[in-house]
Amino acid sequence: MNNVSKIKDCYGCGVCSIVCSKKLISIVQDKHGFYAPRIEHMEQCTDCGLCTKVCAYSHDEVANNDTTPQGYAAWSSDTNVRQSCSSGGVGFEIGRSLLKEGFKLCGVRYDAPTRRAVHYIASTPAEWEDSMGSKYIQSYTPDAFKAINRKERFLVTGTPCQIDSFRRYLQTFKAEENFILMDFFCHGVPSKLVWNKYLAEIEKKIGKVSSVSWRSKERGWHDSYVMIMQGNKTSIPHISRRSQGDAFLMLFLGNQCLGKACYSHCKYKALSSAADIRIGDLWGTAYQDNKEGVSALIGLTERGKLTIENTECIECIAHDIDTIIEGQMRHQLSYPTVMRPLQLLLAKTKVPIAFQALISKYTNKLKNRLHIP
Ligand SMILES: Cc1cc2nc3c(=O)[nH]c(=O)nc-3n(C[C@H](O)[C@H](O)[C@H](O)COP(=O)(O)OP(=O)(O)OC[C@H]3O[C@@H](n4cnc5c(N)ncnc54)[C@H](O)[C@@H]3O)c2cc1C
Repeated sequence: MNNVSKIKDCYGCGVCSIVCSKKLISIVQDKHGFYAPRIEHMEQCTDCGLCTKVCAYSHDEVANNDTTPQGYAAWSSDTNVRQSCSSGGVGFEIGRSLLKEGFKLCGVRYDAPTRRAVHYIASTPAEWEDSMGSKYIQSYTPDAFKAINRKERFLVTGTPCQIDSFRRYLQTFKAEENFILMDFFCHGVPSKLVWNKYLAEIEKKIGKVSSVSWRSKERGWHDSYVMIMQGNKTSIPHISRRSQGDAFLMLFLGNQCLGKACYSHCKYKALSSAADIRIGDLWGTAYQDNKEGVSALIGLTERGKLTIENTECIECIAHDIDTIIEGQMRHQLSYPTVMRPLQLLLAKTKVPIAFQALISKYTNKLKNRLHIP
């Protein structure tokens, strides 16, 4: 059968589930803690092949990329926005400008009750504020992607693999005209099993977590990988920095708990993208002393470049592409030694285990890798 039933360890982008006219595909969490498609009633599959057609994991090439990229260092000229966003806040400003032009926006927010990052649709600046800040866990896309009306104008943001499949979906229905697609330089997404265990550990101390932030510029952009969580047992938030060995950020940024596809199938490093616009942190030497945060911003298509030109409230400085991507990964990651035993242990264990104690086994190795004293 020409469907996604044989695909294992894919990107979990969810686009196959929205294209199936029979609604046979659901997106579930697999045993390693990543989203994966499952076909509910195989006997009803009509073999139309649409789910594999839109699946970026099933193709070697990246959909689209039609022009020479134009790169900028950029940031929001609204200091509150710049402070609240992960890098320079340009993703937020691009969305805010497009709202004024009548677009709807599809981005990611954190849903505390389900402990998930989810794609959602925003139609007002206030609703778009929930998208501010990176949520460093895999987002669940199907509900929002299904709610997108292809006849309306939309900005859709997401990981490069989500956007590659979404581009294929739009191409299938000849609906690209109404859409602007934005991705980011992507490190990879961590396992939800790791996230759940980490959260359970923190909740023992602060109670049910109602809000999470993965970045904070209180001590400057270069030390901004910080977990801040608010629980219901205390008014004092839990704050834990990567630079002081936070377990989750160490595992994530040390590339120890990412999806199998992030190691074996990521074809989106550096400039490889199906989006119109790519954003990220402008790491590297050019802005190494900056404290407020600078976004890497790349117009990849004519539509993307025009969108950047028309975006209000951003400062942009043009740079050559090498400067823009200097601090980014250029190649696929190699499969780590820690991930398999760690994830199997997390998946199989029935007794509660101390997450921090478990990963402390690996901490020294990770600290060396991340140059943390
Ligand atoms: C899993 C992940 C890995 C990343 N890896 C890198 C990297 O290696 N190098 C780099 O320079 N930048 C990386 N980024 C991007 C970076 O963290 C910032 O999101 C980016 O610089 C945009 O910041 P901003 O200041 O413009 O706006 P922000 O307000 O921080 O914008 C966040 C944008 O990202 C979207 N988003 C947030 N979380 C998710 C998610 N889980 N899945 C899909 N979309 C999401 C939101 O919808 C919003 O549009 C990564 C982001 C994520 C979520």
